[in-house]
Amino acid sequence: MTTRPLDLLDVDALHSEEELAIRAVVRRIVDDHVRPNVAQWYERGQVPVRDLAKEFASVGLLGMHLPGHGCAGASAVAYGLACLELEAGDSGVRSLVSVQGSLAMFAIWKYGSDEHKDRWLPGMAAGDLIGCFGLTEPDHGSDPGSMTTRARRDGDDWILDGTKMWITNAPVADVAVVWARTEAGVNGFVVPMDTPGVTAREVKHKLSLRASCTGEIVLDGVRLPADALLPAARGLKAPLSCLTEARYGIVWGALGAARDSLHTALDYAGAREQFGRPIAGFQLTQAKFADAAVELQKGYLLAVHLGRRADAGVLRPEQVSVGKLNNVREALAIARQCRTILGANGISAEYPVMRHAANLETVLTYEGTSEIHQLVIGQKLTGLAAFG
Ligand code: FAD
Repeated sequence: MTTRPLDLLDVDALHSEEELAIRAVVRRIVDDHVRPNVAQWYERGQVPVRDLAKEFASVGLLGMHLPGHGCAGASAVAYGLACLELEAGDSGVRSLVSVQGSLAMFAIWKYGSDEHKDRWLPGMAAGDLIGCFGLTEPDHGSDPGSMTTRARRDGDDWILDGTKMWITNAPVADVAVVWARTEAGVNGFVVPMDTPGVTAREVKHKLSLRASCTGEIVLDGVRLPADALLPAARGLKAPLSCLTEARYGIVWGALGAARDSLHTALDYAGAREQFGRPIAGFQLTQAKFADAAVELQKGYLLAVHLGRRADAGVLRPEQVSVGKLNNVREALAIARQCRTILGANGISAEYPVMRHAANLETVLTYEGTSEIHQLVIGQKLTGLAAFG
């Protein structure tokens, strides 16, 4: 008789029937549409973004925590559970949903005009339109306030020039939320990707997040009408608030990659024999499992706590930093440790563990690197800003 790691503390008791029902739907869609194919997508470095978006939209996963405009309006905890299940399939697949819902749709939902919302959100929620979010530039990642993408006035129009780099979904996107510097500071623009002067090139040769489409967006004299500006987004705090939304999903998502790694290693160690008995029976292996299960559950309790705060409307950005820093760091440690338990098979795409570990290297870096989250927490603790 064995117990699954997250059942040690009976964490399901923390959830409502509705939350568990939503989780079951997402788990099934991942089992049916992601698990059978994801190793192949990963090896090829190609993922059917549009097909997946339609599939996820069919159960309300795109912009699922946003109310209105065709979105499901689910709770933050339900959204977190969805992220966990998606990332148990693959971090890249969860990224597709995060970027669509928490970055592109959220930016339009929170800062857009009624016309922006009517034009884009229903189609994005339905998976007919793919969005992306362009903040990072080739020379400005952790320090987006130094961005060099510029938007200037030409009559009533805006002209955008610059380059955005490492933009998830960009090569397949219909619309980008692009952040650019204007005379007034940092502003957001809704940019249809078929606007003349916009080109998106795929980033090749990734060794992580290969089941995700990543690109560079070049904006060369892109002329946009006056109403392309997100009217309510003023200053860098607007894109940073979108990142807080997406980071919250990562707090949960990373646990999915860790859980899947741990389940795989447990199943493997129970069946694999060396020295005449299952490797799961060796004390050193059990120590690895015990430590990983403890960290997984601690991370889960943290995610539930942050989720309940989000649903109560009192979640603060530095609290999300605590969750992202801890849960991604620990998920990566769990995936690496589980990899060792699979021995040579641990490096094979036949098993998901090394794929999760490689993906989590990206998750550690995007949406604020672990160092930047340490600095955010450090600033709160000391009252002294070490960056910015
Ligand atoms: P840098 O900022 O150059 O950092 C390099 C190192 O220096 C890091 O370890 C960092 O922590 C450290 N460092 C920097 N400043 C400090 C400091 N003050 N103190 C201590 N250490 C510091 N961006 C988007 O806008 N949209 C997307 O959709 C998107 N998708 C992505 C998908 C993938 C697969 C990847 C890999 C990245 C994606 N990003 C996206 C970009 C991501 O957000 C950036 O990579 C991230 O912000 C880090 O920026 P950087 O890579 O330029 O690293």
